Amino acid sequence: MNIVLIGAPASGKGTQAKWLAKEFDLLHISTGELIREVIHQGGALSSKLAEIVQNGNLVPDDVIFEILKNFINSHSTKNGILFDGFPRTLNQAKMLSKIVSVDLAVEIDISLDTVLERVENRYSCANCGAGYIMSVHKSEFCSKCGSKLTKRADDTKEVATNRYNDYLLTKNNIVDYYKKLNKHHLIDGEDTAENVFNKICEVVRSII
Ligand code: AMP
Repeated sequence: MNIVLIGAPASGKGTQAKWLAKEFDLLHISTGELIREVIHQGGALSSKLAEIVQNGNLVPDDVIFEILKNFINSHSTKNGILFDGFPRTLNQAKMLSKIVSVDLAVEIDISLDTVLERVENRYSCANCGAGYIMSVHKSEFCSKCGSKLTKRADDTKEVATNRYNDYLLTKNNIVDYYKKLNKHHLIDGEDTAENVFNKICEVVRSII
């Protein structure tokens, strides 16, 4: 079973993807995390990618697809794959269809106001990558490893607004693509993470 999660930045995709992958024993692939790893490793591509990500732009389709394919080929795909942050363009959706068959495309819907509120509150551990909502966590330090929490360089109001608007421009093409294939399900993301998770689980169970 292969699932695609579609949602604006800070729509909760990452959290849902982690929980869903665990619940249904799927390989979780976050292309954002793969890109950040490539940047972290340094090398020829690294500074170019860092600039693209920092400005909130999309990495070219062929580059991201190559990174995605390499990851899939070097990992066990368990009961299937949970794609978090891919596809982000219609072209990527078509590229993906050449290597896997997508059973379900879940769109998590949230407003720009909610995105900005979440981005302002979103911190992660520079050491182990654990994510936190500051208004809930209320500490500058990671509860897993004790390291200091930092904000992602692209988690600013300006970048988030640009990314949200870019997302709106491109996501309809992807949504239409999966609607035509009868794979699309819309989920209201303006709810607690637990409720959103339960709603997505219901949809997944209905297709198993
Ligand atoms: P994310 O962690 O999903 O918010 O992604 C962070 C950044 O990685 C994005 O703003 C893009 O620059 C890049 N990125 C992640 N996934 C993709 C993708 N499917 N296509 C192009 N760029 C991507």
